[in-house]
Amino acid sequence: MTRGVPITSSTKHSLQSFSGVGPQLAAKLGKIGILTPEDLLFHLPLRYQDRTKLTPIADLRAGVEAVIVGQIDGANVRFGRRRSLIVSVSDHSSTIVLRFFHFNKNQQLGFKPGAWIQCFGEARRGSKSLEMVHPEYKIFQQQPKLKMQESLTAVYPSTEGVGPATIRKLVDQALNRHIHNLTEILPAAVQNEFGLMPLSQALLTAHRPQPDADTVALLNGTHAAQQRLALEELLAHHLALNQLRQKRYRELAPKIVTCGRSWNSLVKVLNFDLTVAQNRVIKALFSDMAKGQPMLRLVQGDVGSGKTVVAAAAALHVIDSGFQVALMVPTELLAEQHRKTFHGWFDKLEIEIECLTGKLTTVNRRNAIARIASGQAKMVIGTHALFQKQVEFNCLGLMIIDEQHRFGVDQRLALRSKSNLENTVPHQIIMSATPIPRSLAMIFYADLDVSSIDELPPGRKSVHTVVLPGTRRQEVANRIRTVCQSGQQAYWVCPLIEESEKLQAQAATETHAILKTLLPELEVELIHGRLKSKDKESIMQRFSDGDIDLLVSTTVIEVGVDVANANLMIIENAERLGLAQLHQLRGRVGRGAEQSACVLMYQPPLGTLAKERLGILRDTNDGFKIAQKDLQQRGPGELLGTRQTGLQQLRIADLARDKSLLPKIEKIAGKLQQDYPHLIQPLVDRWLVHSDQYANV
Ligand code: ADP
Ligand code: MG
Repeated sequence: MTRGVPITSSTKHSLQSFSGVGPQLAAKLGKIGILTPEDLLFHLPLRYQDRTKLTPIADLRAGVEAVIVGQIDGANVRFGRRRSLIVSVSDHSSTIVLRFFHFNKNQQLGFKPGAWIQCFGEARRGSKSLEMVHPEYKIFQQQPKLKMQESLTAVYPSTEGVGPATIRKLVDQALNRHIHNLTEILPAAVQNEFGLMPLSQALLTAHRPQPDADTVALLNGTHAAQQRLALEELLAHHLALNQLRQKRYRELAPKIVTCGRSWNSLVKVLNFDLTVAQNRVIKALFSDMAKGQPMLRLVQGDVGSGKTVVAAAAALHVIDSGFQVALMVPTELLAEQHRKTFHGWFDKLEIEIECLTGKLTTVNRRNAIARIASGQAKMVIGTHALFQKQVEFNCLGLMIIDEQHRFGVDQRLALRSKSNLENTVPHQIIMSATPIPRSLAMIFYADLDVSSIDELPPGRKSVHTVVLPGTRRQEVANRIRTVCQSGQQAYWVCPLIEESEKLQAQAATETHAILKTLLPELEVELIHGRLKSKDKESIMQRFSDGDIDLLVSTTVIEVGVDVANANLMIIENAERLGLAQLHQLRGRVGRGAEQSACVLMYQPPLGTLAKERLGILRDTNDGFKIAQKDLQQRGPGELLGTRQTGLQQLRIADLARDKSLLPKIEKIAGKLQQDYPHLIQPLVDRWLVHSDQYANV
């Protein structure tokens, strides 16, 4: 691509001319992507500290940073769980404790009773009163003449081996020398039309706010300067993904055109009618794959909306055309379930299915790999085991990734590279039950096409959800007894916040023992990630056959598990889980015709956010609404998962806060593509440290 904007000589030079920058520091800066003065200008503050005013101790609030001045009452070493130095400080209004965990003798002796001290730090709730832990401080023998900062202090992202003072000095030099010859990439016409502040002014304000700047707006990130930068940053990301889409259009993929023989025969024997939404999405997939360019389509649909059969439709088309299909799933449990489902559908069509998971014996695995390599296995279902080096496909035409949020971009890439087809890449379907609000998808999935299965199969009743404290366990047990004695089944999920499978398994094992004694008349079983695959399978099989009444489990059943007769779910410690995960878990019930229920149990007391979260789940079953709320509560990083999308950390934009910019960004992107295509690359290069990180996704 040609560069329309000349590279401004001085802003792109190396940093070696900066005072204080030797080869060592330059190397450290290089590691975090700071190579030129311009990179420094775009090394933006994470937040601001307010050192402009003095706060009386009595007015301090927990969680807020402030400057205080007072007199030292005394200093003592406490030998508690952790040795600490406690310094008591009073002003005219009240007293506060400073706490140091790391200190030396001199430091300790410096806190003389009666001396004056000025501190800056965040007040926290201590055991008795407010405390400041490791504040910045200065001691004076006399009452100091106060010199407050005139404006907010920028706080930069911490960087390995480069202190905040160094970064400040470097940024100052960059601002002094280079801000005035910085290239404004966005054309004046665009700036005027959309009322944008000039870039240099925005950067100056963001780095060094003036005393008269709107402090509240700056602290909230809503200042016009910050918004100007956020807009340009999001625009750059959007354009980068658009470039990817363009690149994909230039690649080749197998052209899938068939008369649909296999799919048509399957439709006839399905024991349900497809929903309108399913049919619409299937049609989109068929038409994508007929084009000879690689399809990359995200199919999002709430839990239970019937994504699997949609995937099967696409798979059959591809197999009819003589290519192989890989279906990648995050857990063995789900792989096993899909294997059964696909056997049920494909056996009559005499399509060979291979299931590759970690649990295969060496011989079986070798055979499976051979059948995949020879092309004999047409439909390959697998877990991460598909990434093994030895796995090579003969003619992979389509990759389907189920429960996309559990996989990283790199894993998708790894699979794509396993096709032996020359000069072509396989089509991809990405399936997700975590719907992304449209505004977000527009910016961050700009490289994908998105389809929504926005309708549940008919007859589904929404899950009746209640929120109860853990103290009412006995009542809940009684409810389970009634439900199970009427012939239905139930789940009891014990999530732990720890990622550790071991601890999770432990908690579930304990609960299992308790429930067995509480419910002696029921068949109560336990499943968790540390069981042998064979045991997991046989338990799932017995549950699915109705031989187990109550299944106690960890979150291993979170994705995919589909047993229609299970109508009651208890989730313990629900306050510890996020909205999306709770919704996923709850999606395991409500799959049959019976009214189903979900009990969200919590350990009191319940925090405000957790209360709100559980309330949302009680009030709605709509995955889209829940995703919106999740976005508000946790921000898009959590929702999209930085790892999952390959998204770079944003420097200044915050998608939850800056949502209102998105329509503008879409318009500006359109304008650039139309009238100023040569500006796109420079813009992308400016904001994405390694813009090629998206390149192969
Ligand atoms: P998910 O979208 O959560 O992956 P599944 O594909 O597992 O959902 O489907 C959930 C259940 O609904 C399965 O038992 C499936 O057979 C059934 N199902 C799928 N489509 C329909 C439909 N159109 N009508 C009735 N049941 C359906
Ligand atoms: Mg599914």
